[in-house]
Amino acid sequence: MKSLKQIAYSVFTGLLLVTSVANAEWFDRTEAIMGTQVSVQLWHDNKAIAEMCMDQVISEMHRIDHLMSTYKSHSELSMVNANAAGEAVAVSDELFELIQLALELGVVTQGAFDITYASVGKHYDFRKGQIPSETQKQAALSVISIKNVVLNEKDTTVRFTREGVRIDLGGIAKGHAVESAVRLLRANGVESAIVTAGGDSRVLGDHRGRPWAVGIRDPRQKDGLVARMPVQEEAISTSGDYERYFEADGVRYHHIIEPTSGDSARSVRSVTVIGPDAIKTDALSTGVFVLGKERGLELIDSLDDFEAIVIDQYGEMHFSRGLEPGA
Ligand code: AMP
Ligand code: MG
Repeated sequence: MKSLKQIAYSVFTGLLLVTSVANAEWFDRTEAIMGTQVSVQLWHDNKAIAEMCMDQVISEMHRIDHLMSTYKSHSELSMVNANAAGEAVAVSDELFELIQLALELGVVTQGAFDITYASVGKHYDFRKGQIPSETQKQAALSVISIKNVVLNEKDTTVRFTREGVRIDLGGIAKGHAVESAVRLLRANGVESAIVTAGGDSRVLGDHRGRPWAVGIRDPRQKDGLVARMPVQEEAISTSGDYERYFEADGVRYHHIIEPTSGDSARSVRSVTVIGPDAIKTDALSTGVFVLGKERGLELIDSLDDFEAIVIDQYGEMHFSRGLEPGA
């Protein structure tokens, strides 16, 4: 039999639970980091803790940006680009592991996702409407290959086999930042949240009993959506030809580059990949964009746990096998 004291205690804790749940609400924050919009939204019953969690997410995004930006001349990645052709450069475990994963995903995507694309990529400036000259392009193409990046796991060093090799993690670092941020939220006991960096999102839990709904943008209408995807404990990444681009003589020059031609990939307008991990969905969405509809969907169908939606150059949507109507 429960004593009166025990009953009073359980009524009291029950009331506490009811009031704290009744006080729970959504909190959100948006900032411009890593050259894009970063946002976090979470459900919590304590405003101070929610604010602390959002501060941590924002600091984490800044930390990763300082490590991996090629726009910051003192970032760890810029040090690699400046020195790795001459000597093996020792890097942090975090940067080493991300480069290692990026190279592995290069193999998975049959070379479509290639971080050495940057040898030609560095000659593009989408704000200024600048593209590489033919000479620059040909010189760069001869050094674009993931084989030109040599990793030494024992002392976590990176070395380039040739002069002129450059690497850029723009197609994978946002996914990494989103995963890291979600890990922090989980460690703080948050059960329901979404973290987004540009086109890459990772959700924690569900949206109060329902899946989260993440919109897929209409590639040719800024505020239009073509679909809303339900996601739960998953990541979703979209790569689009509308993120960074300019048009000249009716041709769209945008930020996703074919490593074989050094030109923007133009067979599709956007690719969305859904899967268990934002680092992989980020790199795969970029890689599938380069591969195009047929080869890209074939690749996704060959992988467990990943699905994709491709919007082709005519605006038509195509789905991987698991998302086809009736699947
Ligand atoms: P996302 O928006 O995730 O598709 O990434 C696009 C970014 O990935 C670009 O802004 C570049 O930094 C980088 N990128 C472009 N082309 C490639 C490529 N073929 N392989 C790897 N990264 C690329
Ligand atoms: Mg990507």
